[in-house]
Amino acid sequence: MLTIKNLHVKLEDEDKQILKGVDLTVEAGKVHAIMGPNGSGKSTLSYVLSGREGYEVTDGSAELEGLDLLDMDPEERAAAGLFLAFQYPVEIPGVGNMTFLRTALNAQRKARGEDEMSAADFLKFIREKAKTLKIDADMLKRPVNVGFSGGEKKRNEILQMAVLQPRMCILDETDSGLDVDAMKLVSDGVNALRDAGRGFLVITHYQRLLDHIRPDVVHIMAGGRIVKTGGPELALEVEKNGYADLMAESA
Ligand code: ADP
Ligand code: MG
Ligand code: MG
Repeated sequence: MLTIKNLHVKLEDEDKQILKGVDLTVEAGKVHAIMGPNGSGKSTLSYVLSGREGYEVTDGSAELEGLDLLDMDPEERAAAGLFLAFQYPVEIPGVGNMTFLRTALNAQRKARGEDEMSAADFLKFIREKAKTLKIDADMLKRPVNVGFSGGEKKRNEILQMAVLQPRMCILDETDSGLDVDAMKLVSDGVNALRDAGRGFLVITHYQRLLDHIRPDVVHIMAGGRIVKTGGPELALEVEKNGYADLMAESA
């Protein structure tokens, strides 16, 4: 599903190489996790995959189901089925959450040559999703993320995923501030959306998040590369021993 080969990325304005040859393949139906010390390039990887400006790919490739992601603008990537959830989702004052979601969904459908969903059909569709995810109807009407609590933002992120039904979901849960409830929300959401046709890449500092999600594969990233890959036990090893041993091993 997602195939990253030898990806090298530097900052556009600075002579600073951040990713130094990332190789990673996420298969459909699998949940892969990336852990790693601060500054190892985890967020940069997710930004580059999303098409954020400021980064320059100097070598390597990233494909989504055989399509060259790096060649697409962010909207095309979304239409191709890529979803990125970031820790601090943008607030959009003046735009109702439901309107935002319907616009995003219909933009995707249009880009794929599909018919738009009517307002009435969408209302039915989103009410059902909200109910499944235990999301208050009230939250659907509020402006996107404005005044949402941390937990509500997380819930909204999961709702966005449920509505857009992406093929490949990338979650970057890097910084502090995910309390136990938010962690449970994210992991329940991911688990609810797990599907044979969908891949997940979960980037996290929190071993505990992986207790709930139970990834199929765990990667450790350090110094701009994936330095070790294993099963869920790798996350436990990190929790117990930290990164130093793993990094010494791979040096
Ligand atoms: P992680 O998410 O693993 O903590 P990041 O991808 O955020 O790592 O950062 C990797 C390295 O690249 C760090 O040294 C960071 O300071 C640097 N970096 C990333 N983006 C920028 C930027 N826009 N400007 C300056 N340095 C950056
Ligand atoms: Mg960081
Ligand atoms: Mg980060």
